[in-house]
Amino acid sequence: MLSSSQDSQNGTRSTADEIIVHSPIDGREVGRVPAMSRDQVQRIAQELRAAQPDWEALGTRGRAVHLNRWRDWLLDNDRRLTEIVQRETGKVLGDAAGVEVPTAVATLNYYVDRAQEFLADARPRPHTPMFATKKLRLRYRPYQLVGGITPWNVPLAMPAFDLIPALVAGCAVLSKPSEFTPLSWTAAVRGWEEVGNQPVLACAIGRGDVGAAVVDLVDMINFTGSTRTGRVIAQRAGERLIPCSLELGGKDPMIVLADADLERASSAAVYGAMWNGGQACVSVERVYVEESLYDAFVESVTRKVRALRQGPEQKPYSSDVGAMANEAQLQIVERHVDDAVAHGARALTGGQRRPGVGLYFEPTVLVDVDHSMECLRQETFGPTLPIIRVRDAEEAIRLSNDTPYGLSASVFSRDHERAERVAERLEAGAVNVNNVIVNGFQFPVPMGGWKESGIGARAGGAYGIRKFCRSQTIVSDRIEPAADVNWYPYTPLKGRIQERALRWFGARDLRRRLGLRPRRRAR
Ligand code: NAD
Repeated sequence: MLSSSQDSQNGTRSTADEIIVHSPIDGREVGRVPAMSRDQVQRIAQELRAAQPDWEALGTRGRAVHLNRWRDWLLDNDRRLTEIVQRETGKVLGDAAGVEVPTAVATLNYYVDRAQEFLADARPRPHTPMFATKKLRLRYRPYQLVGGITPWNVPLAMPAFDLIPALVAGCAVLSKPSEFTPLSWTAAVRGWEEVGNQPVLACAIGRGDVGAAVVDLVDMINFTGSTRTGRVIAQRAGERLIPCSLELGGKDPMIVLADADLERASSAAVYGAMWNGGQACVSVERVYVEESLYDAFVESVTRKVRALRQGPEQKPYSSDVGAMANEAQLQIVERHVDDAVAHGARALTGGQRRPGVGLYFEPTVLVDVDHSMECLRQETFGPTLPIIRVRDAEEAIRLSNDTPYGLSASVFSRDHERAERVAERLEAGAVNVNNVIVNGFQFPVPMGGWKESGIGARAGGAYGIRKFCRSQTIVSDRIEPAADVNWYPYTPLKGRIQERALRWFGARDLRRRLGLRPRRRAR
């Protein structure tokens, strides 16, 4: 029996003890999971801690056996998992199948294949001959328990992307999926158990209070979600003095210079804005087009957006743009579009909630917009594309940087060098040249936001796994006399030797090395 019934924001009916997920496609129930109490989360955290030392002791090779088994399970179950993702998010197949399980698999392979290299002890040389007899060793020891809190927009790939490196590093992982989409990731975690892997991966299910409990229990927190929640988590992490990595919201600009390839730029803008129903942190949220190309660009984009197919898929790949994952998000999109139109903008296509069943918002192109409007100041996270005419690249750069966010951006031009020069002036963690979104899938380089878009990053080669480790330094001696020269007792002779040696190695010119007084400057 459910104790109390209340409407949650995605149109699902949930209670304090249970989360019931209804599909944004047709409102039907997809599944239900019990919402955990703080005590339950605490018990799970204790079990994970108890299991972690054996997991760490397995070493990279031993852990790889478990991780590879799980990869095979993910691949063997990809259809079922993709279907759960689609039903709980309302994504079309094209958005789900190309990203969710494949990103989990690619992340796993990338880190498992390189774990030995990335986690190998480093043995740097001493920085000065004064310490020539020291042996330096740098080790990477995993945090015992890592917490991962994730949003609803990419419900399987995101926790996988964020947290697989922690497992590879040897951490135990307490993962808290979004209350709007808990089903796909819990199914994946059940797969971890099903293949008989060590009990170092578990889910904490619930709403924000369960997320807060996770932050209170772990040694390091990795959060992906809104800037608002990120701030709360950073404050708590600060109080607890645990490290946090925050991947937050964005308002990604796209700049189209006058010499851009019109066909490619307009197709990229449409894909970048509409992929995943616009519910991607790295989606194109606004476009600045140089004057001479503006009319042709707007015409091309509008034509391509009008041609997009939206709605439930009768056959695989028969629709391009899916539903909004929850009612609250749909209302934000509605508010931004209404605000823009009320202040003089025009919707050249779309502009409203799609009539009928399901949480669909029509793919929308907005023109005559400016930076006083919500659609250019706040993250929309929906299928909208505001396009702004600019005089030149300078104005485009200035407006692109006129935001508290700094996640990613893109620049389009046939002149790659010029595009890269423009890219270098954008205040964003990543910039795509003549492309969109792809920066989010380049494992060797970091994906992290500047300004209010985050702290730290995911991926980034070795960084992506070492961020889940504490570095431990071990310093030992090659020569061990009865006492080092700087130890007690201090004597004039030892003092002189030390002073001279420090001066010799510190100075960069012979006069100072020899301790000679500087020459007086002639007046
Ligand atoms: P959200 O911040 O509302 O929720 C994210 C998660 O935080 C959920 O699991 C939620 O239950 C949990 N949470 C809520 N309050 C909490 C608290 N006080 N303590 C701990 N956990 C708490 O975000 P959302 O609406 O689910 O996701 C959309 C946002 O995520 C957008 O802003 C988007 O840009 C961002 N996002 C960023 C990236 C990135 O890589 N930068 C990727 C995907 C999504």
